[in-house]
Amino acid sequence: MIHFVGAGPGAPDLITVRGQRLVRQADVIVYAGSLVNEEILKEAKAGCAIYNSASMTLEEVLEVLLKAERTGRSAVRLHTGDPCLYGAIREQMDALEREGIEYDYTPGVSSFCAAAAALEAEYTLPGVSQTVIITRLAGRTPVPQAENLESLAAHRASMVIFLSAKETGEVCRQLIEGGYPPDTPAAIVYKASWPQEKTVRGTLDTLPALAAQEGIEKTALITVGGFLGGEYERSKLYDPSFSHGCRQAQKD
Ligand code: SAH
Repeated sequence: MIHFVGAGPGAPDLITVRGQRLVRQADVIVYAGSLVNEEILKEAKAGCAIYNSASMTLEEVLEVLLKAERTGRSAVRLHTGDPCLYGAIREQMDALEREGIEYDYTPGVSSFCAAAAALEAEYTLPGVSQTVIITRLAGRTPVPQAENLESLAAHRASMVIFLSAKETGEVCRQLIEGGYPPDTPAAIVYKASWPQEKTVRGTLDTLPALAAQEGIEKTALITVGGFLGGEYERSKLYDPSFSHGCRQAQKD
């Protein structure tokens, strides 16, 4: 059995209880070395074979996982945040399926959740936005044309932009071009939940210079939208005048 596990955003105590149990039981761990906090690996048992996938190809990763399976050892493939976002996990699951090997999948806390915590923010504020767009700037991995940042900006939803901190200026330019006013609140969160965590707040037109001043170029998320501002409506869920399945409206 191969276990895909989300390691969480960085802080070693933000892996799930299940994920930590699998790490403790593993005979073999292949971890995404660029972003998984190595503190988590201290939980591995003595003698566990640990591989950093940062310098490995998909084929090399699979070889390690298949060998573990064939020798009856338990293997954990440890991904950063939650594997469902930019995790390159599907190609691994499909390869295991072709080999007839069973696997399971344990989610993790994604960095976009840790970024909200760092900002003490809520992406889905009533009266502001009820949608979160998770995307990235096209890089060496292209983004489908229909999903370019300018067209996504037209929704004026809350946005979280991964893998693009090196080009914060370009991100902000495209978002303004697409219809977000230049004074839309924006923030960049570097290494959310790590001891080095940094948050920088500004607006679409000021954020690039502020991020550059702090030297933030990688391991960061750009967040944009009115959710970073001061105005919103209170939620209906906890409004005394609103009835729902679990509570009757209070009469005044
Ligand atoms: N699966 C991961 C994302 C992997 S892609 C997740 O769910 O978070 C790698 C990108 O994620 C980085 O370039 C950066 O944009 C973002 N990232 C990962 N960890 C981060 C952290 N702790 N703080 C801020 N951004 C992070």
